[in-house]
Amino acid sequence: FVIPDFRGFCHHIEEIYAKCLTNTDGKAAHYIPQLARANPDHWAVSVCTVDGQRYSTGDVNVPFTLQSCSYALNYALALGQLSDVGVHIYVGMEPSGRHYNELCLDYNNKPHNPMINAGAIMTAALLKPDLSAADRFDFVFNMYKRLGGGEYLGFNNAVFLSEKECADRNFALAYFMRENKCFPEGTRLHETLDFYFQLCSLEITAESGALMAATLANGGINPLTGDPVLTVDAVRNTLTLMHSCGMYNYSGQFAFKVGLPSKSGVSGCVLLVVPNTMGICLWSPPLDSNGNSCRAVQFCMELVSRFNFHNFDNL
Ligand code: GLN
Repeated sequence: FVIPDFRGFCHHIEEIYAKCLTNTDGKAAHYIPQLARANPDHWAVSVCTVDGQRYSTGDVNVPFTLQSCSYALNYALALGQLSDVGVHIYVGMEPSGRHYNELCLDYNNKPHNPMINAGAIMTAALLKPDLSAADRFDFVFNMYKRLGGGEYLGFNNAVFLSEKECADRNFALAYFMRENKCFPEGTRLHETLDFYFQLCSLEITAESGALMAATLANGGINPLTGDPVLTVDAVRNTLTLMHSCGMYNYSGQFAFKVGLPSKSGVSGCVLLVVPNTMGICLWSPPLDSNGNSCRAVQFCMELVSRFNFHNFDNL
């Protein structure tokens, strides 16, 4: 087993869970009513190792939308379709140092990276552009389903409609990119945005999310089903950008303090990957000023203070 004393490990997870539960900092995202109404008490942690040991505690079966966590998965799928060369014609690989939805492009007039809104809208444009809208959705849904080993995956239509309704900034980003000729020829802007909102509105639970993270930890092979969902190259590139850009404008500090690839979303979820070891999904709606879940960030700090999971531990 990669974690020889799994019971002892779970005991630590339980302790850290309880410690973070008392943290009442932050506020749920309020840019759409569906997220603003989230229960701030929800808190879930689920772990899945690359050899299939699992542990879950808290509200692990309550669905929540992936939001920006989908960016990392979509980027991995795009890499599988176009390879890194094909994808990075259209999107950079540099942390932006800006808020995730800031209206800006890099010095090459590309979105800075696939982990912020502009880059994620671009990634959506790159995914199966020749298929119909319905088939594109089906493609991604099926791939996510495989990443999560067939466990819970849903679509929250109220969140989707709400996203679409309150999307001035995302429309602005898309038009700004179109003005700067960022998109591949033939990109349909409205269809691309719809697709992007749909992907943000896909629902997981902490349990199915842990399995997705574990697939990333395991080089793209789902540890429970053995399904080779992603190529090792796609996983390597995805983890690299999760490491440098996955936690919005806190990414540099997170890389310093936690040293693990992760991606957060405004619903309060974080997909955390301990490469070659385990995937962890954390979820609690209250967010800090960077847009990261307060309890999830605290959990990550506490985890690396107890275990040598930091990328550069033990060198
Ligand atoms: N749907 C959200 C948006 O487009 C996702 C942002 C996020 O999770 N940071 O603004």
